Amino acid sequence: MSRYSDDALVLTLVREAGAVLDGLGLAGTFTLAELHTGIERRRGRPIEIRHHPMPPEGPHGLWVMGETADYVFVDESAPPLRRTQIIGHEFGHMLFDDRGDPLPGEPALHACARSGYDEMIEQRCEWFGTVVLQRLRD
Ligand SMILES: [Zn+2]
Repeated sequence: MSRYSDDALVLTLVREAGAVLDGLGLAGTFTLAELHTGIERRRGRPIEIRHHPMPPEGPHGLWVMGETADYVFVDESAPPLRRTQIIGHEFGHMLFDDRGDPLPGEPALHACARSGYDEMIEQRCEWFGTVVLQRLRD
């Protein structure tokens, strides 16, 4: 892939992330709590965020789709800013509906590892997490 198309791809992903955030009815800047609530409202179910030890080789974040709630597990050893980005990344998977609805009685799992960054879905959510960081206010 040429440098030019890399840049074009990043621009597209950043714009897409912004449009999805605008679609939640969020202001230009928002708090992580506002984003959290907005996604819960969109999905009609609660999202629990848990800081948890993760193996150093990854994954750095996990999204577990339970029957009645979503759970986001974040690497507790990551620096605070990175943890926020990981939460944003997992929220991105939910908003882009990367894994559809959970099967009845069976939690589905989406694990995010660094080795997966090449995949389009992971790259898109990594940029989503970055855009979230840019738009967050205290
Ligand atoms: Zn991911």
